[in-house]
Amino acid sequence: MVPVLVSSKLKSLLIPLTRVVVFTGAGISAESGVPTFRGQNGLWNEFRVEDLATPQAFAAHPQQVWEWYSWRRELISKITPNQGHSAVAHFERFFSSFCLVSQNVDGLHDRAGNQRILKLHGDIWEVRCISCGLRRMDFRPVLSPLPPRCECGGMLRPGVVWFGEMLPSDVFERAVRETQSCDLFFSVGTSAEVFPAAQLPGIARQHGAYVVEVNIERSAAAHVAHEVLLGKAGEILPELSACLRGALAGPGSELAG
Ligand SMILES: [Zn+2]
Repeated sequence: MVPVLVSSKLKSLLIPLTRVVVFTGAGISAESGVPTFRGQNGLWNEFRVEDLATPQAFAAHPQQVWEWYSWRRELISKITPNQGHSAVAHFERFFSSFCLVSQNVDGLHDRAGNQRILKLHGDIWEVRCISCGLRRMDFRPVLSPLPPRCECGGMLRPGVVWFGEMLPSDVFERAVRETQSCDLFFSVGTSAEVFPAAQLPGIARQHGAYVVEVNIERSAAAHVAHEVLLGKAGEILPELSACLRGALAGPGSELAG
């Protein structure tokens, strides 16, 4: 693995008092083996969005939609978080002000140890009753029978944001507020093509944050980044995480390192 050269500017920001936002997308989970939706081998080349991930599809064919989510839940349950996820969990423990904003629904950040996560697109492990509105987590990979039912008798749906649905507004508003007030913003493994989430790197830049993109290729938002670190999140983030240990060692660590 090729070591990433951490710029002196970025290194100077890797101290506990820096307010940090990490914004993640499918790329970080793809490194663990979670199939992505876009791109060459994306799921949307194989399946039709309108058949599976819209409120209309669920109203018309709830069982078919649930079979697709069951398949994905089962697949994700066998996948483990990677070193990139672990590094993000380390960030949360290190920085006194930290917020993770994720577009991923797979729960890998939770499993890596992050506790403060704004999930813009929901969570595949959450179920929501379409009658009484109850929400709860259910980590069983396969629910049976399908579609699952709430205690009230109503039908449960996956707690994810479907195409044509609004993002949970309180979650997005909090993500924007955190982005506006941070000093350092990382955009990790996202192509920055899905709006409104894709606005966040630009908002960070407008409000004075130092913006760093970590991605295997330059994203649509790369032009707003001060630095683009090309490569896998699972390789680059652990290197940044190693710099945090140096920062924790306090004055003198610069000389020692
Ligand atoms: Zn209910």
